[in-house]
Amino acid sequence: MFKLSRYFSIVSFFAIIAVVTVLSVFYRTHTTEALMAHQTRSNVSLAKAFVNSVWPRYAAFVRSATNIPRVELGKREEISALRADIIAQMDDLNVVKVKIYNLDGLTVFSTDEKQIGIDKSDNTGFQTARRGDVASSITFRNEFYAFERFIVDRNLVTSYIPVTSGNGTVEAVFELYSDVTDLVDELNRTQKQIILVVSIALGALYLFLFMIVKRADNIITTQEQERRKNEDKVRYQAYHDALTGLPNRVSFGERMDEMIARAKRGKNLVGLLFLDLDRFKVVNDSLGHDAGDQLLRVVAKRIHNVARESDMVFRMGGDEFTVMLENLRHAEDAARVAQRLIDAIAESVQLGNHEMTITVSIGIAIYPTDAADVDALVKGADAAMYRAKQSGRNMYATYTADLNVHAIERFTLEAELQQALKNEEFVLYYQPKVALPGGHIVGMEALLRWNHPRLGLLAPDKFLSILEDTRLIVPVGEWVLRTACKQNKLWQDAGMMRTRISVNISASQFRDESLVVTISEILQESGLEPRFLELELTEGLLIEDTRGGIDMMNELKEIGVFLSIDDFGSGYSSLNCLNRFPIDILKIDRSFINNLMTDRKDAEITHAIASLARALKLGLIAEGVENEEQLEFLQSHGCDEAQGFLFSHPVPAEEFSQLLVEGNLAGLRKEA
Ligand code: C2E
Ligand code: MG
Ligand code: MG
Repeated sequence: MFKLSRYFSIVSFFAIIAVVTVLSVFYRTHTTEALMAHQTRSNVSLAKAFVNSVWPRYAAFVRSATNIPRVELGKREEISALRADIIAQMDDLNVVKVKIYNLDGLTVFSTDEKQIGIDKSDNTGFQTARRGDVASSITFRNEFYAFERFIVDRNLVTSYIPVTSGNGTVEAVFELYSDVTDLVDELNRTQKQIILVVSIALGALYLFLFMIVKRADNIITTQEQERRKNEDKVRYQAYHDALTGLPNRVSFGERMDEMIARAKRGKNLVGLLFLDLDRFKVVNDSLGHDAGDQLLRVVAKRIHNVARESDMVFRMGGDEFTVMLENLRHAEDAARVAQRLIDAIAESVQLGNHEMTITVSIGIAIYPTDAADVDALVKGADAAMYRAKQSGRNMYATYTADLNVHAIERFTLEAELQQALKNEEFVLYYQPKVALPGGHIVGMEALLRWNHPRLGLLAPDKFLSILEDTRLIVPVGEWVLRTACKQNKLWQDAGMMRTRISVNISASQFRDESLVVTISEILQESGLEPRFLELELTEGLLIEDTRGGIDMMNELKEIGVFLSIDDFGSGYSSLNCLNRFPIDILKIDRSFINNLMTDRKDAEITHAIASLARALKLGLIAEGVENEEQLEFLQSHGCDEAQGFLFSHPVPAEEFSQLLVEGNLAGLRKEA
């Protein structure tokens, strides 16, 4: 991770070293230059003073010294006189050596006698001075001979100084050595002190800034940690369902791809279970969304408990879940898991004060047996799930090749159904109900047909379940009610028979709270008297939500319409609550009538239902009557009415008008 303080430390360290170095170099050169300049000036004034006082006495001797042999030169008395004069003038000063050259570069005099007679004409310092300028340099000497004694470890400033005559011409060159060791030591001491002070100041500044940087570092670190945490949270939310905590659809897509890729490499089987709760909407609508949520959580937990460690569970949305089974050994294992899921979910659930049960339908598809890729596998499992639903729910179905065709068909129909109402593709057919005995028309049932632009006339078994699933049944059911009432009123106004029309009401319509208002409005709008409308309710409604159901039926009864239980005997309504429902008529399910002559049990059930109706003082009608034997049986068991192909198939309105003309006469006779 990026650490500001680390970079700061490294950079500061080098910066401090650089600053101190530059500072000391700058200080050193500057002060050395100043020292040299100062010492040169002092050397020059010394030389001048010397020249002014004693030079005229020696000028001639120095000039002519070139002609004196070297061995004699040192012994000349002028030399000893010069030495005496020089020592007298300079002994107390910091001058440690004096030399005098004539214009030829010959060392005419030196306080160090050994050097007398040496040729210095090549020396650049000498040459500069000979041209009339002063040349100085500073040197360090370990050992130096100065006026009859040795001195050690000295810093010396050496100056070559021209000696000029009155008219400004150079006559000779002086060389003066001054000892500046004390000054240099002083300079060094000061330099050290300055460096120390600067270093301390910079160090303090560094510490101060380091603390700030360290703080900034901490802030950055916590911010970074927070950002990561947030990122993780957002990621988690994107991939998980908030309600159940299970991975969601997005996650499903990614995991599925990975799993299929692994299975491809390892030549393994992958099972996909597609779960959809049965009639979950009922719970949500009747017990409320909180209960619905609670139920979903319970179900999620149960699925999770059944799944193995290596299986993955997802909530796809709504009441849909998926389970991925990796490394399946046999396709049948998937079915076993599905059955365990069904059993686990079907156990009763306590939701607040309600104890209830929910079931699930599961579709199974296996990779690579049923599908070659993720897309096909998901579609396959989905289609199989629909089959499980259609086959009666609370079960699983495995994928078969023909399912795809059905799935596509269903999908297309669903899209087309959305438009059907607007395009006026629905029509009503009417089937007469006749009185027993006698056979004259006493009513009719309105039955929905879809005039499909491509497939022709479709019966409800082709599209009713889609209407129910998409809740399109509510607006379509309203259309049926309105059309049936209007039609019946038309027939009545036309002077045909005044009779009841029955309309089928599906479970979702029944659960729709606005049903009572809708029906009152339709009756008012059409002008049909309520007693000429009968609502056929499915038996399933009686068990799904008892209390709300009774209230609804009572409200409907208050309007004045008739209520019948359709397909009676096919469901599981308990007979002991039958008398609590405000119903008028029982309609025996077609399946009993169908086998009336062949199956003794069905005959006995029909007999029992007839007795029940009599005991509860309910009207009784049989549907699906196709032949005379059935008719006779029903008649002899006290059935009031019958409906079936024996009398008439369901027919369009115009055709039914014809029937009514005949039935009308019979009806008038009956009423009279
Ligand atoms: P259902 O209410 O039990 O209607 C009777 C069904 O039995 C009708 O089927 C009718 O054509 C058929 N049928 C009548 N007589 C005979 C017979 O002698 N033999 C045989 N084999 N069948 C006979 P359909 O019209 O296909 O309707 C099927 C179901 O669709 C209806 O059953 C009803 O539950 C539902 N349905 C029809 N129209 C509507 C509607 O407008 N709204 C709602 N919610 N459901 C409807
Ligand atoms: Mg019916
Ligand atoms: Mg029926």
